[in-house]
This record gives sequence, structure tokens and C-alpha cells, in this order.
Amino acid sequence: MTSIYNLTREDLENYFLSINSKKFHADQLFDWLYVKRVKSFDDVTNIKKEVLEEIKKNYILNNIKIVNVEKDKDVNKYLFELSDGEHIEAVLMFHDYGTSICISSQVGCNMGCKFCESGRRKKVRNLEVSEMVLQILLIEEELGSRISHVVVMGIGEPFDNYDNLIKFFRIINDPKGISIGARHITVSTCGIIPKIEEFSNLDLQVNLAISLHAPNNEIRNKIMPINKVYPIDKLIPCIHEYFNKTNRRVTIEYIMLEGINDSNLCALELSKLLKGLNCYVNLIPYNETENIGFKRTKMIQIASFYDILKKNGINVTIRREFGGKITAACGQLRSREEQI
Ligand code: SAH
Repeated sequence: MTSIYNLTREDLENYFLSINSKKFHADQLFDWLYVKRVKSFDDVTNIKKEVLEEIKKNYILNNIKIVNVEKDKDVNKYLFELSDGEHIEAVLMFHDYGTSICISSQVGCNMGCKFCESGRRKKVRNLEVSEMVLQILLIEEELGSRISHVVVMGIGEPFDNYDNLIKFFRIINDPKGISIGARHITVSTCGIIPKIEEFSNLDLQVNLAISLHAPNNEIRNKIMPINKVYPIDKLIPCIHEYFNKTNRRVTIEYIMLEGINDSNLCALELSKLLKGLNCYVNLIPYNETENIGFKRTKMIQIASFYDILKKNGINVTIRREFGGKITAACGQLRSREEQI
């Protein structure tokens, strides 16, 4: 049986029509699910019993559960068990402007980035829409408060699960549902060009981040196999095109890997590559993990790299770090599965 949280409000309207019921029940049920947050279809009071019985024949509510929570000063990490026994993680960060949740989009990942712990396990499957929605609902329930921002930067390549991802956005952005503003939602991709193009035609104001991590094909090929399919010389024009269509500034993520992509020359090359692109660069201090040999660039070199970008007119920030102690930081998720 599938979860009711897989359905957008439009899907629900069609469902109610298909069972010869009333379309407006979709709005009512959405309210029960996402505003009142019922735990059982039996708690729904304004839809006829026969109709609810019909729904129960086809749908269940939750299909994931929280099985572990680790808490640090300003970050919580949640381990979820899925109905087939697989596990995924989500990370909640407490900022001065609110809370943001970093959710997973797949079990495993096929992109094979050399530096990323989360991708060491091959993709097992895509997450269902409901499995993404419920990461938010269950954490909000555990917290007892609302989450203000969502980033799809956990385990998986979201654009490799594109259709479910977009439905997920429609549900959480729906003003009659969880109602998280599109500008408070960000999706990060390693650069799947056809999906970036599709995404640019969408009527959603969701933010886009690109994991670039290198200023040229030679370096990027070595650390991100996807670059052989969608190389930098095609990716950058695609991001220009995205901006032209959407007028939305893109975030360029750049991990600082010692001796690999962090020289002053790389900074110059990156400045040239991004010249004229309306973007801002987020320099990410690399989170070292036990199993992977890459080293984090020293802070002094990160500062030098930052200065070079700045001097060349590139908007740049250095990412604040969260969750290193409880292996909840970028690229560390699921690196200690056996210990949990
Ligand atoms: N697959 C998508 C979504 C994952 S986002 C993507 O590639 O964008 C996770 C971000 O953390 C990506 O930018 C990824 O490259 C980065 N990352 C991976 N391993 C990391 C590590 N060990 N330290 C810091 N950042 C890392």
C-alpha cells in the first residue's frame, strides 16, 4: 500500500473524482494531513465514513519512522527507517534566522563523487515523495515546532529522482499544506544538465545550488565522474541559460580539498569561469571522514582563495560548519551506519 503523502493536492482531487466523490475533499484532507496533522484517517470528521473506508483500502499514512536522534549544540541528526528496512538520514540546523532541515532524496547515490562519504554506497532506490515529506513532518513533530527552511542536500542526487522531487516541492510549498515558501527551499545538484533545463521551465521559485568543486574539466573529471557526461564547458552555459530564464541567482558550491582544487591559480581560474554569471560561491571547508583520503584545506589558504574571488568581483562566502562531531556534516551522512 502506498502512503497518502505521495499525493499532491491535485492528485488528491483526481483521486476523489475517480472514486465518484467530491473534488473539494482534497482541500479538506490536505488540511487534516498537513495543518491538523492527524495520525489516523479515523480522526477526519468532515468526510463521509464510506469515503474514508475507500481511502483506507488504498492508502496508509506514515511509511517511515525515526529510529535514532543525535543532538549537538546547534544541530540534530535523525536516522529514519523505511518500510523496506532501509535507512536514511536528515539533519536539522538551528540558525539565528530559523531552522533548516537537510533531507535525503535517495537510498545510496550513483554519482560516485570521490570525496563524498554518503555516495560510497551505490543507489539502492529513489525515495518516494512521501518519504521526503515525512522527514519534515516527523521532525517537526519531534521538535514541537515548525521548520522554516528546507535544503535537499542529504544523501542522494535529487535530480536523479526528479519527478518525485518536484511533487515533494509542490506538497511542501502548497499554501494549503505545509506551506514552506519556495524561496526557503534549495535543491543541490552535481550538474545533471537536462534536469537543470527542465527545472528552469518550472513555475516554482525554488533555489538552485550546483556542486561545482573544480575550475576546469581536468580537476573535475578526477573528483566527480559525472563531469565526463556533463562537462564544465556545457554546465556553465547551462547555468547562464537558467539565470536568463528564471532570473534567480544560483549558488555555486566549492569544497576546499587540500592540494586538489584549492591553489591560488584555481581561484583565478574559477573567477574567470564564473565571470558574468549571476551567482554566489559558497566555499565549503571539507569534512574529513575516516574512509576517504582527502584533506581539508588550511583556513589560511581558504582565506586566500576567498580574497582572490572577491578581488575578481565574485560574490563569495565561507560556509558555516555544522555537525562535524556527530558526523552530520556535508558528505558525512551514513558513514557510521554500523555503529548506530
Ligand atoms: N548530490 C547533490 C546533493 C548532495 S549536496 C549534489 O551533489 O549537490 C551535498 C553537498 O556536500 C554537495 O555539494 C557535496 O559535494 C558536498 N560534500 C560531499 N562530501 C563532502 C565533505 N566530505 N565535506 C564537505 N562537503 C561535502
